[in-house]
Amino acid sequence: MKLPSPAELSDRLEPLLDALAEHFGPQRWWTDTDPFEVIAGALLVQNTAWTGAARAIENLRTAGALSIDGVLALDELGCQELVRPSGSFRQKTAKLHAFAGHVRDAHDGDLDHMLRAPMEPLRRELLGIWGVGPETADAILLYAARKPSFVVDTYTQRSLERLGVIPSSAPRAALRARLLEALPEDAWQLAEAHGLFVRLGKAHCRSTPDCASCPLLMGCRYGSGGRLR
Ligand code: SF4
Repeated sequence: MKLPSPAELSDRLEPLLDALAEHFGPQRWWTDTDPFEVIAGALLVQNTAWTGAARAIENLRTAGALSIDGVLALDELGCQELVRPSGSFRQKTAKLHAFAGHVRDAHDGDLDHMLRAPMEPLRRELLGIWGVGPETADAILLYAARKPSFVVDTYTQRSLERLGVIPSSAPRAALRARLLEALPEDAWQLAEAHGLFVRLGKAHCRSTPDCASCPLLMGCRYGSGGRLR
């Protein structure tokens, strides 16, 4: 099975997203949160639950360090102590410092200047920073820079595979490109779509799925035991 064409994918996604929106309601991940806080969250949540990342963010905020300058002013051990609740605290400290150091060196410390760049050059720049992988880069593009990117994560890929919309193990770069062709070029709508897939993945389409109460059961190849094509 190949990736569907943009038109085919768009036709499959529209009713799925409508059903999810009707079932779960608006996700509203799109907030007025300060861009650096979004970026710190995207780095700190890697390989951990959001509750741990949120506690680390609160520690940084309380210490007056939730900014490029604030992070750069922290010494390594002090930063490690603050981000400890997010797990892998030595690595997370190094990632925060790498990001803040890049903004200082490449943009004179001006994060807004960096985030104003066009989407694909900015994505390449983000991917050049140590500790920023594709999923983190797309979360930063979408939620901090408010650009129409799509965050392809495990939740999205697993659900779309089980639903029979995409082939198994499609390369994420190709999947992101195809999703961006199929979905509206609108950051707010892309954020809602991502939020809905995460909600589905947490509520129903977990590694061991709970299909019985899933709003997409009727149209799901996996949930129907393979009876749907
Ligand atoms: S029916 Fe099951 S496999 Fe299909 S999307 Fe829902 S939870 Fe996932």
